[in-house]
Amino acid sequence: MKNRLKWSSFMLVLILSLVLSGCSTGEENSNSGGSGGDAAAKGTIEQIKERGKLIAGVKYDTKLFGLKDPASGEAEGFDIDIAKALAKQILGDETKVELKEVTSKTRIPMLQNGDIDIIIATMTITDERKEQVDFSDVYFEAGQSLLVKNDSTITGLDSLGGVKVLAVKGSTSAQNIREKAPDAEVLEYDNYQDAFTALKAGKGEALTTDNIILIGMQQTDNNYKLVGGNFTSEPYGMAIRKGDTAFVEEVNNLLKSMKDSGEYDTLHEKWLGSKPE
Ligand code: GLU
Repeated sequence: MKNRLKWSSFMLVLILSLVLSGCSTGEENSNSGGSGGDAAAKGTIEQIKERGKLIAGVKYDTKLFGLKDPASGEAEGFDIDIAKALAKQILGDETKVELKEVTSKTRIPMLQNGDIDIIIATMTITDERKEQVDFSDVYFEAGQSLLVKNDSTITGLDSLGGVKVLAVKGSTSAQNIREKAPDAEVLEYDNYQDAFTALKAGKGEALTTDNIILIGMQQTDNNYKLVGGNFTSEPYGMAIRKGDTAFVEEVNNLLKSMKDSGEYDTLHEKWLGSKPE
């Protein structure tokens, strides 16, 4: 009798501790909203709906695509308007979007650790990046070029031997220029604002990135010109956590409906000066 009592209280403790440990694991999961693991289990669309807002990773340093006006505190550009349109499609309200600044270097880690739902930030679709994230369809076609002072003798890739060329960390531009102009000295900065400031300060003789980003810089200072044409192809895509096919589909549906309705052309004209060709 005594033994049986001991046995059953042992079982009771065992069962209780199993139940309790099960509960606490469940709680940890539900408290960790926004983590990458949760995203995989739940799906980004569901998370966005539950929290009532989309969290989009955008640039704050790139005129035309994503630039934060320090005076108003508002970010604006082509990528920002796409983020708003996505919030409208998922939540019925384009204001239900929180914008978070990413740089070329921070955007993939921020997506992977759940800080943001999506990257909409002048990001080129590459095979290397496809190993880490999934991409939407192409929504803009850019190409890498060079920005130099109006009186510079640099005319293109051939004139870069021994030249200091400025680029941004984590960008395809920094990688490509090393391959295309192996004799150039590449200096890397954290973001495009810093790289352009460095060019103006004479820290290098050329700045390299996508033509459309360079055009945005040139619009703020006409002492600079683009040279060398486009020497790479940079198709922009929105990046989504790997394996979330439902969200990729949602974003591709958005692009399709924006193209069908003419909204895409309107945005293109608003930010880039003309309708797409
Ligand atoms: N499109 C290029 C890239 O994805 C350059 C622009 C950027 O740094 O975001 O790396």
